[in-house]
Amino acid sequence: MNASYYPWLEPYWNKLHEYKRQNAFPNALLIVGKQGFGYEALVQLFANSVCCTNTNSDELACGECDACQMFNSGSYPDFKYIKPEEGESTIKILPVRQLIKSLSLSRQYDKQRIIMISPVDEMLYQASNSLLKTLEEPNEGTTLILIAHDLAKVPATIRSRCQLISSYSSSSVSMLSWLEEQGCQQSQAYLNLANGSPLNAEQLWLSNAVDSRNEVFEMFLGVVNQKIDPLAFSERCFKLKEYPLSIWISSWLADAIVLSSTKSTESLTNTDLTSNLKILINTLHLRKLFALFDEILEISKFEAGQVNQQLLLDKFAINCFAKD
Ligand SMILES: [Zn+2]
Repeated sequence: MNASYYPWLEPYWNKLHEYKRQNAFPNALLIVGKQGFGYEALVQLFANSVCCTNTNSDELACGECDACQMFNSGSYPDFKYIKPEEGESTIKILPVRQLIKSLSLSRQYDKQRIIMISPVDEMLYQASNSLLKTLEEPNEGTTLILIAHDLAKVPATIRSRCQLISSYSSSSVSMLSWLEEQGCQQSQAYLNLANGSPLNAEQLWLSNAVDSRNEVFEMFLGVVNQKIDPLAFSERCFKLKEYPLSIWISSWLADAIVLSSTKSTESLTNTDLTSNLKILINTLHLRKLFALFDEILEISKFEAGQVNQQLLLDKFAINCFAKD
């Protein structure tokens, strides 16, 4: 069976294939979409289908021809993926220089050469600067596909040199059914927990994150009701640093604020917590909910596990505990 693209990315896949069908590849494309949706895998599949000599009726690569075998072993010469080095979060200048040098050589095959660069919004200034000339002066038979998770962080000089593919709305229905196909039975709860990102939801599901979320939420209620030591709560949060706990807590408070002002459960993020959220709003005033929400939002800006974050979490927990 051929590997396929994630169902929520179908409009992006169709757009890319329009270029292929018309044999009108642009010099540079910029795909904008949030992290955890699988854009990199999509571009890899596309690059594979471009080099495949035997694509099927869905335009997917056959996986068996010589080009596919090379592609799958990572040795196909006319595809490159430029990304941050292991353990780094930014793309530095060296791999970009090496890329530019390699582009001055001809393609090895007569199929379009595809270069993927991601995440282009996390590129160091010199690296993106050195890419400008390449974006401006096309290399024959070569398409650069840049992926950015946050368009606002992409330099205008890069943006203006690329055709933009963005703003296809992704249907959460296809994400939920995909998660269920993987075996996840609480697909909506996990998608909410991952802030709408299906691949992050899958990772959270694989580590049973809903159980940890429920445990921390129970503790949080205990702190608010002055039944649990606030420092025991913050310590537990800090130990679970593999999860975005401050973002989770902010979503409980946001839900409580919505619930106490509208009584409607429709727009809640944590619909599965509704009855416990009601306990929360019976315990805390709206004013206090807002104050705690602001505080935890500030904390969420720190990287998980930093010492600063622990101190701030301690203070936050004590504020949750305090009668106002
Ligand atoms: Zn093939």
